[in-house]
Amino acid sequence: MSVVDAPGFILAAPIQVSRRRSATICVSGGAGFLGSHLCTALVERGDDVIALDNFHTGRRANVEHLMGTGHFSLVEHDIVHPLPGDLPAFDEIYNLACPASPVHYQSDPLSTLGICSLGTRNMLERAVHDGARIFHASTSEIYGDPDVHPQPESYWGNVNTLGPRSCYDEGKRFSETLIYEYARRYDVSTRMARIFNTYGPRMQPDDGRVVSNFVIQALKGEDITVYGDGLQTRSFCYVDDLIAGIIGLMESDDPIEGAVNIGNPVEVTVLDLARIVIDMTHSSSRIVHRALPQDDPRRRRPDIGRAHNMLGWAPTIALCVGLQHTIEYFAREIASGDLERGMAERGFIAA
Ligand code: NAD
Ligand code: UDP
Repeated sequence: MSVVDAPGFILAAPIQVSRRRSATICVSGGAGFLGSHLCTALVERGDDVIALDNFHTGRRANVEHLMGTGHFSLVEHDIVHPLPGDLPAFDEIYNLACPASPVHYQSDPLSTLGICSLGTRNMLERAVHDGARIFHASTSEIYGDPDVHPQPESYWGNVNTLGPRSCYDEGKRFSETLIYEYARRYDVSTRMARIFNTYGPRMQPDDGRVVSNFVIQALKGEDITVYGDGLQTRSFCYVDDLIAGIIGLMESDDPIEGAVNIGNPVEVTVLDLARIVIDMTHSSSRIVHRALPQDDPRRRRPDIGRAHNMLGWAPTIALCVGLQHTIEYFAREIASGDLERGMAERGFIAA
């Protein structure tokens, strides 16, 4: 069975995101993988976007193409500190700032906890001050290693509070509670997506995530590193689908309480993903097995009924199509030398 035919794959027309009026929008984490795609979509619609980023895992190059538009600016700022006072009042705030890959969020766990707590609170304070609606990027990680499958929003999760992933899982759970309490106490309009594994161009090559690792390894003819037996599953959403989903959630006029799963319900094993990538890149790479990281979730698949019913949203881009875009992106990065240059700049390989 091809992944496109897999049960649960829903084909729907892509949602058309059209705004009523242009707005002034803040995107924290705007120079990151998802943030840069979000900023691009908003600027293309005619919004004025100010991205805040401390470049911990993001890079200026991700938003270079927006610099001359007259509708975009990039402010270096760490969200654990209150937002600079000289920014304009915002109509909308998207809070995406936070390292997202296990390698990065575990590299400084206390910082990750600070971003999820103090950082989220600072963004909420600004939303209250400006009367802005705020979107928060939560995660499927709040379900931990789930014993309910697929995962609906009503599932409370199965998270180890004392492990290497806890700083992120528990940090994001704390963020959700902050959002919930600010909505109740200050009547601030909030939107919250639980984002499932998302992939596409501008993923960082050195963040250790499975799609970027496998694609780069396959393109270079290196061994493909499958952790454990590779029978653990993930459900991969292409970035364009994800961005359409979160903008649709932010723009919805209906009051939306709580969190909404945004992801692609087509579930694949990590081993099958390795085989698909080898196939698509015509690579000579071998599959090798490495130790499974502690607390690595065994399976993950979103129940997207809520997003479908409330927003009319469903992903439209099949895994093989999204992977093709991603492979082409990394092939270009490798051919131009940008991949190595970027990794050397970030200290991942010797310059
Ligand atoms: P990313 O690491 O590429 O982007 C995060 C951005 O936030 C980077 O530009 C980074 O420099 C910036 N940042 C980090 N700490 C900051 C701070 N203290 N102040 C200001 N900026 C800071 O990650 P991403 O994949 O784009 O993820 C974006 C958001 O989506 C994160 O909140 C993440 O938890 C969430 N998310 C992503 C996925 C996914 O599959 N990509 C899945 C679930 C949730
Ligand atoms: N993984 C793997 N090889 C790699 C990188 C990741 O087998 O080179 C596995 C990892 O153990 C996990 C899955 O792929 O089971 C997804 O990992 P990723 O870090 O992309 O995301 P997350 O674990 O946060 O879902």
